[in-house]
Amino acid sequence: MKFSTRAIHTGQSADPSTGAVIPPLYLSTTYQQESPGVHKGYEYSRSQNPTRESLEACLASLEAGEACAAFCSGLAATNALLQMLRPGDGFVAGHDLYGGTFRLLNTVFKEWGLEVVRAESGEPEAYKKALASLKRPRMVWLESPTNPLLDIVDIKAVCDAVKRDSVQVVVDNTFATPYLQQPLALGADYVMHSTTKYLGGHSDVIGGAVIARTAELLEPIRYLQNTAGLIPGPMDCYLVQRGLKTLAVRMDRHCGNAAQLAEALSGMNGLARVIYPGLPAHPGHAIAKRQMRSFGGMISIELADGFEAAKSFCTKVKVFALAESLGGVESLCSHPPSMTHASVAPEDRRARGISDGFVRLSVGIEDADDLIADVQQALA
Ligand SMILES: *Cc1c(COP(=O)(O)O)cnc(C)c1O
Repeated sequence: MKFSTRAIHTGQSADPSTGAVIPPLYLSTTYQQESPGVHKGYEYSRSQNPTRESLEACLASLEAGEACAAFCSGLAATNALLQMLRPGDGFVAGHDLYGGTFRLLNTVFKEWGLEVVRAESGEPEAYKKALASLKRPRMVWLESPTNPLLDIVDIKAVCDAVKRDSVQVVVDNTFATPYLQQPLALGADYVMHSTTKYLGGHSDVIGGAVIARTAELLEPIRYLQNTAGLIPGPMDCYLVQRGLKTLAVRMDRHCGNAAQLAEALSGMNGLARVIYPGLPAHPGHAIAKRQMRSFGGMISIELADGFEAAKSFCTKVKVFALAESLGGVESLCSHPPSMTHASVAPEDRRARGISDGFVRLSVGIEDADDLIADVQQALA
């Protein structure tokens, strides 16, 4: 079955006892046993929960993986992937990664003894070089499109360049979603998600997930999910699964709106740069066209007049709300230099291409005309 059908039906058969089309939400923490050790596969909800299993089955199918473990946040999913490694193991971080992933690597896991190096650029050669500098290379972690620069990394080319039996590739697929891009089919071993974003899609649930290429690869993650107790609650699983049902239609609209807005922004005054992978001038456009179904709902802009102009823009928009996060039905704007990337030293920020006038837009599914008019009046 095709993507949209699986998003609605996989892991979600009607309830056999009542015929309810939507499977019930299982809140019970424990399950009655017939005699000691004899039960229906469920003992205690940290270990097994039917609502969580529904979500996991659906996500595994959408990412074309064999198995999935759901987590209570994207960072909890990241934490489980990193805890599979041993002190002294070598880790290659993509050149542009989610700030929270960096913080976890540079504080908790640095103290824990991981050897972390960063690829100098998004080129496959840069990943290969970083890997070669490690004593005991074990894991490569990348995003595409990246946050907030929206660089495109050629996932297949990186996998081809770094893959060997002892090295696993993880792709944080939060920005693209499985509807637009399926890293496991391009050679990755694991996909990680913050389901808080597009998968939940309505800015009302925090969650995460790891999907593995094979059931065997998921085993250590499943062990950590239960043993360290990083599980999402059943209500949160239900909300993410409800979000998945409309993922395909929402993404089509997010992408359509973003394409129209990027085009309109390209003709507006006051901007030094419009970054959107769907624009032919974007350096990663050709790769994005090959590895993604469409170009996503995120746009970054750089205001020509720096910090004051960015601040004024972010306070004058009316449809876009000034807020962190992304991927919900409502449009959001954020100013990375003073919000998500405030802890990065200003020189480092600028060296990475995040100027003081940098603004990130999460384009929602409102009417595109209203979004265009909103940024136009804010820029004016
Ligand atoms: C939000 C986000 C995360 C972290 O997820 P949480 O659900 O906030 O813990 C990781 N990666 C990317 C790309 C994100 O946008």
